Amino acid sequence: MRVENYIGGEFAPAQTGKTLPVFEPATGAEYATVAESGQYDIGQAMAAAESAFGDWSALLPDERAHWLNRLADAVERHADELARAESIDTGKPLALAASVDIPRVVSNLRFFAASASQFFSEAHDMGPSGFNYTLRQPLGVVGAISPWNLPLYLMSWKIAPALAAGNTVVAKPSEVTPASAWMLARIAEEIGFPAGVLNIVHGSGDSAGRALSSHRALKALTFTGSTRVGGMLAAELSPRFVKLALEMGGKNPTVVFDDVDLDATADEVVRAAFSNQGQICLCGSRILVQEDIYKTFRDKLIERTGKLVVGDPLETGTDQGAVVSKVQFDKVMGHIEQAREAGGQVLVGGKPGRPGGRCDDGWFIEPTLIDGLGPEADINQAEVFGPVATLIPFIDEEEALAIANGVDYGLAASVWTRDIDRAHRMAARLEAGIIWINCWMKRDLRTPFGGHKASGLGKEGGFEAMRFFTEPKNVCVAIGDDGRRETEDGRRKMGDVRR
Ligand code: NAD
Repeated sequence: MRVENYIGGEFAPAQTGKTLPVFEPATGAEYATVAESGQYDIGQAMAAAESAFGDWSALLPDERAHWLNRLADAVERHADELARAESIDTGKPLALAASVDIPRVVSNLRFFAASASQFFSEAHDMGPSGFNYTLRQPLGVVGAISPWNLPLYLMSWKIAPALAAGNTVVAKPSEVTPASAWMLARIAEEIGFPAGVLNIVHGSGDSAGRALSSHRALKALTFTGSTRVGGMLAAELSPRFVKLALEMGGKNPTVVFDDVDLDATADEVVRAAFSNQGQICLCGSRILVQEDIYKTFRDKLIERTGKLVVGDPLETGTDQGAVVSKVQFDKVMGHIEQAREAGGQVLVGGKPGRPGGRCDDGWFIEPTLIDGLGPEADINQAEVFGPVATLIPFIDEEEALAIANGVDYGLAASVWTRDIDRAHRMAARLEAGIIWINCWMKRDLRTPFGGHKASGLGKEGGFEAMRFFTEPKNVCVAIGDDGRRETEDGRRKMGDVRR
């Protein structure tokens, strides 16, 4: 398979002819190549998007919604192929790709299709003398850079609102997992999606990513990825006043109080820690457990984690697939070793997974629980982004909050308790953009999405995304002399409150 760029409605390799290898994590074998694009290709895509902008932004919101819904319908028709491609490309269980990733692509497209027609702006009444209204206009060409963990799901989370708001897009998916974005381009072509409105350019961050972020015509950039790269983009784009939304890393706490149903909570805490091999930015990788239930709850987590089936992602019954790349495998194993050396106790897992068969050379890691290290330890501070979670005991609410908030990140947190007052107190004081109470990963697309601290800048989701992808403009309208006179009369009657 050769993954090519989709520019102005046409497919093309990188102008230089350069490609990068694409690997199947479950086997460790190269199975495709992807275009390694650079400035020329990005330049072509930006030009195509600029020339399509006038017509696309002039469409009625309903007409843009129509195109997004057609894209959603076509994605749904191709859902099985897309889920399989996503599983092969990322190493995630096929069942997960089929039940979460691809259905959420469809919901993202449909949700923002509806947002196109539901979005509204404000009016501010100034009494009889006039009023203000706010025009929210599309920005122009926007860039979307996305990561490898939820490839098409997160790309659709960006391109759907950008397009719904009337912008044209140049998207750069992760070079590690480009297959589903390429398939989306083919689907767009199949339904005759207007040429140049959505352009997808592949390649590494250093080449295609930098070419996109440095392009002079870029009006906004939405980025999901590591805090390191997000910081670099902020440093580069802020002096140019390019609008920027950053969704970055996390080190999310799962806070379990002693009044919960231990079994039901343990099930969900394990799901929160290890879904997608722990490679969801929202995964709860620090499990904080109240002291008096610590040992009992720990045993329940060990038992459940040990039962997770590490296996061929394409087989039913697999709970844990492969991690996405050799780089990620080495990084995660390095964190486990470092934690061991620091005196941590590996309670379960801690070794490469060995599912056998065609997966002998794949990048599998047994889901791993570690305890015995303080909140300041590296493993409790750094984002591992793999199937590794740590346990930390706490005495009371204050200590739980101090530990939970004592990291650089602030993406998400979950709180498990039956005490409703405590739940709300915790929600108000936890430093994170999303707080789940007695649940995890329950999503409502209307809500603001994004992290605090080193986890994010700017919000996406619902109308927040529509606001990000539009520029507000205040229009102030005066209403003639009669209005002004009435105001003056009114003032005289009421007396001037300032005097
Ligand atoms: P990454 O930062 O390495 O790469 C993300 C994207 O940025 C890729 O497309 C990459 O090619 C591109 N890129 C890299 N260097 C670039 C540069 N100099 N200029 C422009 N683009 C560049 O991240 P990753 O390893 O692909 O993804 C994992 C990270 O993503 C984790 O930190 C995870 O927490 C984070 N993430 C965050 C969220 C969220 O919503 N907050 C969601 C998913 C993943």
